Amino acid sequence: MRHVVVALGTVLLLLAVAAGCGAGAPVGSPTARTSAAVPVAAPAPVATAAATAAAASAPSPAASAPAAAAPPVPGTAAPPVPSAAWTGPPLPLLPLALAVATADGAGVVSDAWIDQEISEAQRLLGPHGVRITAVERRSLPERYRQLDTRAERDELAAHCRRGVINVFFVAALRNVDLPERFIQGVRWQPQREGQKSYVIVSSVATPTTLAHELGHFFGNPHSQVDNNIMSYRRSDPSVVAFDERQGRKMRSMVQWYVRTKEIVPLSEPAAPAPVPDNGT
Ligand SMILES: [Zn+2]
Repeated sequence: MRHVVVALGTVLLLLAVAAGCGAGAPVGSPTARTSAAVPVAAPAPVATAAATAAAASAPSPAASAPAAAAPPVPGTAAPPVPSAAWTGPPLPLLPLALAVATADGAGVVSDAWIDQEISEAQRLLGPHGVRITAVERRSLPERYRQLDTRAERDELAAHCRRGVINVFFVAALRNVDLPERFIQGVRWQPQREGQKSYVIVSSVATPTTLAHELGHFFGNPHSQVDNNIMSYRRSDPSVVAFDERQGRKMRSMVQWYVRTKEIVPLSEPAAPAPVPDNGT
């Protein structure tokens, strides 16, 4: 009997960890996930606006309220301080492999739509020294156009490339904890031991959703700070950013991914040797 109890506890913990962003839980934070199960907004139909989808995946009642109506939380009202550009040694360039689900023979999102997600992620990560670039863009079978269950998210593990950050684009991504809702994206940890995590982005995503999910991928939980990229409290999209502490976390995670060879950086051409100044 004791074994059964222990095993059940393990299963619950694994489920909680696997919940990722879509459930609104910081990675590895089972308690936060529990609070995310509280319904906080009107049920969102499939074709809902992106903003509603964001609320549906918010981490807690406080964080999921519309920004304008959210009560001020002491110490969190100030916008994130724009961080100075990272001036340390350059971090390696990390490859993204993109896979796009298809519907009726076409990708569920356009190349231009994906380009905007990538360029927004580069714009937000770059000042912190985190450098990414897409190295592959391929199609996924139509059966991945909508992901409804944990098992369906897990199936994408079979489509992951090695040594890269895998990003999957789908038409719709159901909130597995609030099944009447759909979410914009998730950093997903498959439940089978030893499988690597990856990012799933839905077609209802905003331009900064990939950046947010990569924030999770690089070790950051949700934030309650207005206009932080890891928060759902957005009052001024033009100032949304990672803060310096998050930047440090991401740089250390980049080093870890590279050291463990989970990500193999792209080799870049060496900088041209400086031309000797002979004074002529
Ligand atoms: Zn998230």
